[in-house]
Amino acid sequence: MKPSVVAIKQQEIFKFNARAKKIPGAVNMTVGEPNFHTPEHIKQAAIRAIEDDHTHYTVPEGDHELLGAVANYLHDKYGLNYDPETQIVATTGVTEGVFSAFNAILQAGDEVLIPSPSFTIYGPDADFNGAAPVYLDTSKTGFKVTPEALAEVFRTNPRIKIFLLNYPSNPTGVSYTEDELQALADVLKQHDVFVISDEIYSELTYSFKHVSFGNILPEQTILLNGLSKSHAMTGWRFGVVCGPAEVISQINKIHELATTSITSITQYAALEAYTNGYNDPAVMKEQYQVRRDALYEGLKELGFKCPTPDGAFYLFAKIPEDYEQDDVKFANELLDEEHLAILPGSFFGIGGEGHLRFSYAASMESINACIEKLHSFLGSRKKLANIEG
Ligand code: PLP
Repeated sequence: MKPSVVAIKQQEIFKFNARAKKIPGAVNMTVGEPNFHTPEHIKQAAIRAIEDDHTHYTVPEGDHELLGAVANYLHDKYGLNYDPETQIVATTGVTEGVFSAFNAILQAGDEVLIPSPSFTIYGPDADFNGAAPVYLDTSKTGFKVTPEALAEVFRTNPRIKIFLLNYPSNPTGVSYTEDELQALADVLKQHDVFVISDEIYSELTYSFKHVSFGNILPEQTILLNGLSKSHAMTGWRFGVVCGPAEVISQINKIHELATTSITSITQYAALEAYTNGYNDPAVMKEQYQVRRDALYEGLKELGFKCPTPDGAFYLFAKIPEDYEQDDVKFANELLDEEHLAILPGSFFGIGGEGHLRFSYAASMESINACIEKLHSFLGSRKKLANIEG
């Protein structure tokens, strides 16, 4: 067996979730899974695709009518200009996009710069390619990478081949303004590095207009996006990788070896989403915003502090100072005592300690129950502290 594969550990998140699922009636605020269903017109397009026998292999990169629709959508929404003939590959979710891009680029001994805390697949994806993840702790700078910190890390780590940027961020919900992105690009321009920009939550940006890194630094950027979050299509497994043609053609080779192509039915569903589903995300976003505000206010009243939740559907909250800061213990006891499942911040890497990640892609009912349960839990902790004291 390949040692780099054997060394990959099962993700803590899955173990924690498996435990939560065994508790009947537990309120679950862990998963990054929209609680909306896929819009009806998209489901119908997939049903029609089956009935019309679109059930055969397609070209590896994806049907070109679909890629044209993706290009138009990215142009209309974000002003991006990708040639559908050479600059886009449809992948099995952004998950495969990360996998194929890392595989195409990385060699043993390379380094991958990952702002931390972060979504949990990037580090292991680097590891099994023999590359070393370099985690940049962002907890002291509002969970954002600053140009100064970026410049410094390039000084000390000359083997960085990929800078992984994810905004709006999972797990923190923070995003970047155009000026902030430009300042990062000014540093990145000076280095022979690809920026893999995971913008899967781009449609769920509340504070300002999302600006794609594909516009800021097109020659160096590999843009990842998809339909899982924007169109409540997690189970369909649809993502796109976009970038310079010479890079995309290499990524497409890995994608072809791994998958031949993505499912033909999903391609028809995606064609519908990118053609007639421009407004689907807005409907869900409106609801998420209401839930975000309710959760944010509720947590604030209980003494939690969160970075400004610019986007995605997560709040990354600091355990109030007057309570024990062990986030793993906090989350486990909360699950056992109150039957409320929330993820410990340290599951997302350095900088996440003392925090909890709440997903508000859950119903208002769950959000209200969450606040009540936390209130009761913190009350019991206070009493314990007093007894001990
Ligand atoms: N990237 C980020 C930042 C995510 O949070 C997730 C899922 O939670 C993914 C990628 C995976 O996306 P997909 O369903 O397209 O594979």
